[in-house]
Amino acid sequence: MLRLRAYSTLLGLLLAQYAAGQPMQVQHEVSFPGLKQQYVNVRSEFPVAGPTTMLRMPAWIPGSYLIRDFAADIENMRFSDRAGNPRAFTKTAKDAWQVNTGGMQHLVAEYRVHAGELSVNTSWASPEYIVLNPATVFLYNKSSRPLQQALKVHKPPWFEHVLSAMPQDEQGMFMAADFDELVDNPLVIADAPIHAFEDRGQQYRLVNVAATGFWDSEQSASDVQAIVAASNRFWGELPFDRTYWFFNILAERGGGLEHDHSTLIMGHRWQMQDRDDYIKWLSLAAHEYFHAWNVRRLRPQALQHYDLQQEQYSNALWLAEGITSYYDNLLLSRAQLVEPDEYFKRLALDLHVLELTPGRERISLRGASHDAWIRHYKQDANSVNSTVSYYNKGAVLGFVLDTRLRSGSKNRVNLDHVMRQFWQRWKAKAYPEGAFLQIVAELGGEETRDWLEPLLSQSGSLDIDLALAWYGLVLDRHPVNNAARAADEPLEAGMGINWEADVPALVVSSVVHEMGASRAGVLPGDELLAISGERVTRETIEDRMGRLQPGLEVQLLLARHGRIIEVPVILDEARPATYEIMIDEDFGNRHLRRLESWLGQELTVNR
Ligand SMILES: [Zn+2]
Repeated sequence: MLRLRAYSTLLGLLLAQYAAGQPMQVQHEVSFPGLKQQYVNVRSEFPVAGPTTMLRMPAWIPGSYLIRDFAADIENMRFSDRAGNPRAFTKTAKDAWQVNTGGMQHLVAEYRVHAGELSVNTSWASPEYIVLNPATVFLYNKSSRPLQQALKVHKPPWFEHVLSAMPQDEQGMFMAADFDELVDNPLVIADAPIHAFEDRGQQYRLVNVAATGFWDSEQSASDVQAIVAASNRFWGELPFDRTYWFFNILAERGGGLEHDHSTLIMGHRWQMQDRDDYIKWLSLAAHEYFHAWNVRRLRPQALQHYDLQQEQYSNALWLAEGITSYYDNLLLSRAQLVEPDEYFKRLALDLHVLELTPGRERISLRGASHDAWIRHYKQDANSVNSTVSYYNKGAVLGFVLDTRLRSGSKNRVNLDHVMRQFWQRWKAKAYPEGAFLQIVAELGGEETRDWLEPLLSQSGSLDIDLALAWYGLVLDRHPVNNAARAADEPLEAGMGINWEADVPALVVSSVVHEMGASRAGVLPGDELLAISGERVTRETIEDRMGRLQPGLEVQLLLARHGRIIEVPVILDEARPATYEIMIDEDFGNRHLRRLESWLGQELTVNR
């Protein structure tokens, strides 16, 4: 209560200044004198009132649910008045500075930020290009947060563009309505081709930063345009009031982050030289664009107002991320960018990953959403056993729910209808728990809601095979070397070990519970040297396991913390190495019609 009163008094003083003709604006400037050492120099001027002012650095960036403590990259903090007279301050928390501001109307903060982490959630500055996420660069407090934020960028002279979806005034100054809009608008400073296109009267730009001959910029622009058109058809209504930007950084990285009028995505130039890999990039672009509706504007209530200093818990990330992940692949088919077989390959991968994750039996979709901060974003060797990805299981749930709605309504109702109704009802205000289920009940019947509810609140599997069967499809779960194995050959053996990818030795990265290695006490970090006295290596392990039969007991020679130990293991049946979606034997015309309405393509079937 006391804090609330102090806050409103401050705001009152600030408003009094405004009435007196002072500009109610925070003015930020960034420059790059230390670019070779990756420094971003910042000068920010805040209107202040009262004897002290506390300024804070955000601890996380909306859309990526991990405390990142951006304050750790701040150096040389200095506070002064407009004339440059220094002001005393104390650091009162890891991300808070308290300054004596008695008698001042404007406080100037000057510091530099080390921008050395290239990802969609952080900032990077180098002479090649600069990517700034304002959450990692600028300070704020409760009274400055609602104020207009003006940003002047002193770009190094060799760069052509300073790009952002933020509005700009006539002088080229970026103008965010408030601190939240500033945080929502990454800046890209680079020389890069800008591709412009239009759909339904809306302007779009795709910027390919660091593209070379291995990345066909024109092709990527025409494909993104097709994604945009399919997504706009899906939603039927565009929520933008200015140009929407796709910032694509080609830097041997992955990932994407959604914003109101832009997205920052990362890929690598060789991706376009491999069909499967390029489809991944296309689905990333589709994913982030779908978020312009689902999560940016269709927002769970728990995330309505961001608390930039600490965790905010939402049970609905399966809906915000998982359903988006279902559509990011499906919309590529509807955009005619992938063949049905290519779409099935993506779907089969989702089904495969889910069935190889024993953690799906440990935690519900709501639980995994809630614990994103400590599970999905902080994975360790036991994550495969303890948790499930709300992206992965949420996408599979989207598929199963969509099919359930279709099969229960003679294909008259589907998940597209639910999402559009959800949009119409909740686009203007954050949605409460249960809002989505309510619409499922209205369009798909009470029994569909009653079927869905436990799939969200309980752990366990989803009936994938039943959903596929409605389309006349069947899932083939291959063992390791299925193609090479004759029908009468015995099954291959497995132990339930995942190996570290980037080391030459056979080092255990994780052990899947309820399989042989786990039962025998093999641990993450163990190095496998031999099986029953026979040397095995990264090159030979798959072949050797393929020659052993389930049920056999072998001795594993392991190195653990520098000592050699021997562990007896009873081998299991190998887990399926690949999943393939196939046409079932009873496939008929009704299945063909269902597939066509789902995939948005005219099909011919080759059995
Ligand atoms: Zn996402």
